[in-house]
Amino acid sequence: MKCSKDGEFTKGELSRFGNIQLSPSAGVLNYGQGVYEGTKAQRKENGKLLLFRPDQNAVRMQIGAERMLMPSPSVDQFVDAVKQIASANKRWVPPPGKGSLYIRPLLMGSGPILGLAPAPEYTFIVYASPVGNYFKEGVADLNLYVEEEYVRAAPGGAGGVKSITNYAPVLKALRRAKSRGFSDILYLDAVKKKYLEEASSCNVFVVKGRTISTPATSGTILEGITRKSVMEIASDQGYQVVEKAVHVDEVMNADEVFCTGTAVGVAPVGTITYQDKRVGYETGDESVCQKLRSVLVGLQTGTIEDTKGWITCIN
Ligand code: PMP
Repeated sequence: MKCSKDGEFTKGELSRFGNIQLSPSAGVLNYGQGVYEGTKAQRKENGKLLLFRPDQNAVRMQIGAERMLMPSPSVDQFVDAVKQIASANKRWVPPPGKGSLYIRPLLMGSGPILGLAPAPEYTFIVYASPVGNYFKEGVADLNLYVEEEYVRAAPGGAGGVKSITNYAPVLKALRRAKSRGFSDILYLDAVKKKYLEEASSCNVFVVKGRTISTPATSGTILEGITRKSVMEIASDQGYQVVEKAVHVDEVMNADEVFCTGTAVGVAPVGTITYQDKRVGYETGDESVCQKLRSVLVGLQTGTIEDTKGWITCIN
């Protein structure tokens, strides 16, 4: 789907996956003018495909596009494109429990521009790939490292939106943590370096008794769709859910910590290492994390009835 600077997006077309042509001076290649989304289609036992809250991805893309000075497809255009891609790739969607179809909507400044300015033309592409389950066998605990040298986002930057520019700077810190045996990093705020932000591609929650806290979205963390959904599920289950500034000391003293995201679902954190201290947390079948995970996964895979209107079903 294409769009000139101020115009509407024209109707898109389906084509086989393959390379695309871009000018070397495309805005996205030179100035990073691009935002993306990620969502999954799950196959139900009856063969139907289920999409989880694709309208929320559409809205998040619009907010991101506005931040990066790009026009964006309407919610209907976005959701229709995602549905079309899921439908067209139906035969590639793994059987229930074996994985899902990962769907990647991508909006970019595709037109050429030499000086620092918005691109004169925009392209919206949706592509898909089958993926296995994030956890190959059961659900494994994540072991996180609190990153103090690198920050993910600074106030006033683009950390609150899913800009492509947020991801390459993460790679170096992530590689270092992985080479030391950690599964992911936990970022701290850029100013005081004392408050929890998020992991490299998921949001974080801290449990103490019946209270579940998560960093408030103040422009430096991505407002995850899983995060928002899990907050609602947790409230339904009678937990007190709080969005606030979460101090790293609070994290180290928590009963449980868990991460949320399209890729991980709801994932337990087994240990967190901060400076020279490593702390272990409760995980396992009786954990809050596991209770929330089973409801989320049940809704997403259609084994729990969708009373919230979160599921879009494709025949
Ligand atoms: N934070 C970041 C930086 C992410 O890239 C993602 C993945 N989109 C998330 C959090 C989780 O968001 P969601 O639940 O919408 O997948």
